[in-house]
Amino acid sequence: MSLPNFVYLDGEIKPYNDTRIGLMTNSLHYGTAAFGGIRGYWNADEQQLFIFRPRDHYRRVLQSATLLRMEFPYSPDDLVLGMREILRKENYRENCYIRPLIFLSDEKLGVKLHGLKASVAIMSIPWGEYLSNVTDMHLTFSSWRRIDDNMIPARGKIAGAYVNSALIKTDAVLAGFDDALVLAEDGHLSEGSAMNFFMVRDGVVVTTEITQNILEGITRRTVIQLLKEQFGLPVVERTIDRTEIFLADEVFTCGSGTGIGIVTRIDHRKVGTGKPGNVASQLRELYENVVCGKVAQYRDWCYPVYE
Ligand code: PMP
Repeated sequence: MSLPNFVYLDGEIKPYNDTRIGLMTNSLHYGTAAFGGIRGYWNADEQQLFIFRPRDHYRRVLQSATLLRMEFPYSPDDLVLGMREILRKENYRENCYIRPLIFLSDEKLGVKLHGLKASVAIMSIPWGEYLSNVTDMHLTFSSWRRIDDNMIPARGKIAGAYVNSALIKTDAVLAGFDDALVLAEDGHLSEGSAMNFFMVRDGVVVTTEITQNILEGITRRTVIQLLKEQFGLPVVERTIDRTEIFLADEVFTCGSGTGIGIVTRIDHRKVGTGKPGNVASQLRELYENVVCGKVAQYRDWCYPVYE
């Protein structure tokens, strides 16, 4: 993975190599940080780099920081402009990935959120080749449970919460699966290791509600709107049982990293026919066009980096 050349740090643009942080940095020890994961898509026809829904991502990252009692004078738009500046300096002509990170930057130990300086960093890397299988995924149900909102804020993108995601993902991959779904403490479905969940059953699309300890995904919101507006399909947000998923006609996941992930097997059971379903396949194709700015109706979601 290549490293960034430039970073936005607390309102200034700096070379990445001049922004080393110390080993005593508070958040490094306690996971008390908030972050985002944003995709940039190179549109070769227009010679333009489009960032997908950046204001929504910066709004969520600032909200996640608020959950950790961190306050900033920046608006989402300020951070979008900071991001634009580093992306222009990186001068990408390819897909990229952007990582905002809000952390307690004081080099002071202490398990607390108050009385410590918080910093905002934004950095980016080229996206490169994505090697994972995302159109024929075999998932398992994790033996871990999803963090509960009364333990670590589940709807925000909080660094420490990703210990949970890393355990879920690693155990699944080491057991030979592509990824895993995770149940909440009450035994109902929450989401995937780092993606939201959808299933199609008898012509209705179902996804978990935002009170089921899920990260409030921006792709999830995008998908709900596309399914309603472009496919005319009803989308229901409700509690989902494990065994309903085994009877689903289609299952797919969504997240900024991989877009729409099509699931064809779960714990060695076929999902529907065992082949990618129509809704998921068509949605994946549409989404890939939307994010590159190729669908006029949703062009507002795509933020152009270059003039
Ligand atoms: N859930 C978790 C735990 C995630 O890490 C992600 C990826 N950010 C998602 C869901 C999907 O969220 P988004 O669509 O905003 O990327």
